[in-house]
Amino acid sequence: MVKITKEAALAYHHDGRPGKIEVKPTKPYQTQTDLSLAYSPGVAYPCLEIQKNPNDVYKYTDKGNLVAVISNGTAVLGLGDIGAMSGKPVMEGKGLLFKIYGGIDVFDIEIDEKDPEKFCEAVEKIAPTFGGINLEDIKAPECFAIEERLKKTLDIPVMHDDQHGTAIISAAGLMNALEVAGKKIDEVKIVVNGAGAAAISCTKLYCSFGAKKENIVMLDSKGVITSDRPNLTPQKKLFATDRRDVHTLEEAVKGADVFVGLSKGNVLTQDMVRSMADKPIVFALANPVPEISYEDAMAARPDVLMSTGRSDKPNQINNVIGFPYIFRGALDVHAKAINEEMKMAAAKAIAQLAKEPVPDIVNEVYHVNDLTFGPKYFIPKPVDPRLITEVSSAVAKAAIESGVARHIITDWDEYKEHLRQ
Ligand code: NAP
Ligand code: MG
Repeated sequence: MVKITKEAALAYHHDGRPGKIEVKPTKPYQTQTDLSLAYSPGVAYPCLEIQKNPNDVYKYTDKGNLVAVISNGTAVLGLGDIGAMSGKPVMEGKGLLFKIYGGIDVFDIEIDEKDPEKFCEAVEKIAPTFGGINLEDIKAPECFAIEERLKKTLDIPVMHDDQHGTAIISAAGLMNALEVAGKKIDEVKIVVNGAGAAAISCTKLYCSFGAKKENIVMLDSKGVITSDRPNLTPQKKLFATDRRDVHTLEEAVKGADVFVGLSKGNVLTQDMVRSMADKPIVFALANPVPEISYEDAMAARPDVLMSTGRSDKPNQINNVIGFPYIFRGALDVHAKAINEEMKMAAAKAIAQLAKEPVPDIVNEVYHVNDLTFGPKYFIPKPVDPRLITEVSSAVAKAAIESGVARHIITDWDEYKEHLRQ
């Protein structure tokens, strides 16, 4: 992999036109007539139509293809609370990814407000502009209450990607890794290291897929979260264990089938991996340094099924294989929400894709010819051109079936063909 230097990154953002995204007109604007249609007096007609019938906003404006990537800059990448404006390059970057993978336009919105109540008020007031809201890099535990409230008050999809994007993709990976290991989700012992934005949402989704709460041990920076610990947040309480025989990570992973790390780098040792059950599943997802490196885990024992957040190793868990397509599907049915059914449909579609023969283009990009479902390949690659058709249509279908769609798709072949373009 090419080494990314500070100089190269700053030049990339600065050279030419500063930043990474722009707004482009989509209608003719050369003549006076064009301009009179685009703006006054012609523009009054769609305004009045929308006033009469609010759903016409999807017919006459970009709302149905416009997502707000909104952050207050309190948990930006691994940089922490760097402030709303400092996080703008990340939000623009997310906009770039939405556009190139999902064809979705993004306004990045940086709100200088840490108080959840006031932050939500600001988001609620600008929501009419957008077909969906991607909350980004907002710190836990505030992110839980913010998302919960906005889901209630708004009638468009709201998703905190750091929580649910990660949950959807790691759930897909987990289901497939369990299949490779020949284990059942309702029987496996799972250790989740970390109890923040990503860990809580991932664990909830694993439970939706059948994981049993009594088989889960969750840890935070203080160790195993036991039900007798005082002052637990509601989210931590949800996964607090009644077991009293485990206190440390070392004790918790002994005999466990699955380790999911959404915590800090280098906290899982080779000895701990060796102490796990047969064919252990290790998702070491802390970025940029995983809980244990791919090399160390593989050297500890050859039967480990390993996944990290790194693009240079097999089975990368990368949110980019989720959010552009989840929002694409949601927008295309003018969805009122992104609900549990839609998240589960996305995870299943991603999991299924890894089991299908890989198109040549994917092998070419990675200079390999051996990507077949198994220990080294159980999560689709970000360049897979089938992601948009499979994930978006699964999400759109789930939205229709669960009753949150305002626009119904009936010809799925035509829809998929349209997505391919
Ligand atoms: P977060 O909300 O700040 O949560 C971090 C959690 O880790 C907290 O619960 C914290 O404990 C816990 N923690 C810290 N040190 C620990 C230790 N030594 N042992 C056990 N737990 C420890 O952050 P997040 O957004 O959930 O992200 C967590 C990590 O996952 C980051 O490294 C992030 O980059 C990575 N991540 C990766 C992906 C991906 O690969 N696609 C996606 C999302 C996140 P306290 O609650 O006690 O503070
Ligand atoms: Mg993020």
